[in-house]
Amino acid sequence: MRKVAIIGAGPSGCFTAQGLLKARPDWQVDVYDSLPVPYGLVRYGVAADHQGTKGIARQFERVFERQGARFFGNVTLGREVTLEQMRAAYDAVVLATGLAGDRVPELVDDGATPEGMIGAGALTRALYDHPDAGDLPDIGGHVVILGNGNVSVDLLRLLAKSESELEGSDLSPRATKWLTSRRIDSLTIVGRSAAELAKFDPVMIRELAKLQAVTIRVADLPEGEMTDAGQEKLLSALCEIDGLSTGPLPITFRFNMPLQSIETKDGKVTGLVAGRDGAESEHLPCNALVTAIGFCCDGRLGRDAVMSGAEDAEAGRIAEGLYAAGWFRRGPRGTIPENRADSLALAAKIVGDLEATPETSRAGHDGLGLTCETVDHAGWQRLDAIEKAQAMAGRCRTKIPTRSDMLRLAQKIEELK
Ligand SMILES: Cc1cc2nc3c(=O)[nH]c(=O)nc-3n(C[C@H](O)[C@H](O)[C@H](O)COP(=O)(O)OP(=O)(O)OC[C@H]3O[C@@H](n4cnc5c(N)ncnc54)[C@H](O)[C@@H]3O)c2cc1C
Repeated sequence: MRKVAIIGAGPSGCFTAQGLLKARPDWQVDVYDSLPVPYGLVRYGVAADHQGTKGIARQFERVFERQGARFFGNVTLGREVTLEQMRAAYDAVVLATGLAGDRVPELVDDGATPEGMIGAGALTRALYDHPDAGDLPDIGGHVVILGNGNVSVDLLRLLAKSESELEGSDLSPRATKWLTSRRIDSLTIVGRSAAELAKFDPVMIRELAKLQAVTIRVADLPEGEMTDAGQEKLLSALCEIDGLSTGPLPITFRFNMPLQSIETKDGKVTGLVAGRDGAESEHLPCNALVTAIGFCCDGRLGRDAVMSGAEDAEAGRIAEGLYAAGWFRRGPRGTIPENRADSLALAAKIVGDLEATPETSRAGHDGLGLTCETVDHAGWQRLDAIEKAQAMAGRCRTKIPTRSDMLRLAQKIEELK
């Protein structure tokens, strides 16, 4: 029997497992994750008030429940096990570890992040109770979100919502309090591209019209009609929300504003200067700067070195028996449906490659000699059931926020009965 290890139980890892087992239900597919729980950014990135999107997890559940993939949570490649060990134990190894690091604006020196500046990834992890996240930062007053993508819109929407508008989400009491008890005087989204070239999904822009206490202004809109249908759609969505007023919180969209400098006083952010070369630059005062300008590898797996040496990066083949999927392969681009298409194509490639080579005996999971505590799919189901059962009023779940509690509660199988 062929044995495949997938490292990373996010969407790309789960879709790859799904594709492999659909083609070859007789193979053993083991999915490892450094967290005790699966589903990556579906759990810790997709907005807490977008539970419909998170519903994709039900499809992933079936990969474990019905298709027979095995889950091994709390195993970090590069810590509990090396890539060499994995490759020796399995016929194929798929790196699907995503990109967890926040891209930092080029003009910020490494390690010189001023107080009041935070990356969108770090902020969402803290908001969504990721066990390795830092504390929620102290942000308030005039908040600037840097970046013209959907992550910026997610954060803007959450920061603008009142407690009642967060009903049905999976935000914890701590995160709810953080979101709703801070005084925000203004929210500004600043991007370097022109409005029509922004990466916003028009549906998400239109969703802002439902906010109950905001006044929205979209500045820097171009004049004239667009010839590109996608650009036209985005501009009409931006025009629709421009001028909308349901309450006092001012939200402003700014375009054509590349960051020129970040201003600080006593190590704290006080504003930024932005604008096009040649045009007059503008000073935007702010107390908090959230950067949402993309993601990069957090360094553990040396993604750039791995991918630059790949035999066929486009197809996801790094070397014989070693593959890459999802954001780890492509960089931080693409939605969950895009990962599906990509991962299913990769699965077909792996099946073709392995079927074309003679079979050798592999030890699989047992050959790794892991000594760490792991969480299997039954353990995850137990955590899932606990989180749903302990949901506070108006919430669909309350996540277990610490790794130690996850590990402890996942093992108590008898209490499930
Ligand atoms: C804030 C945010 C909001 C988003 N919202 C949406 C949305 O609404 N709709 C949409 O379609 N897309 C959304 N996306 C994009 C979507 O989340 C990604 O396309 C998708 O999650 C990428 O999947 P992935 O499996 O490659 O990576 P990930 O989802 O990041 O999964 C990687 C997994 O690998 C694990 N891992 C990392 N390192 C190791 C290691 N060394 N060993 C073992 N395991 C490891 C991680 O714990 C994680 O579980 C959003 C992205 C972000 C950042």
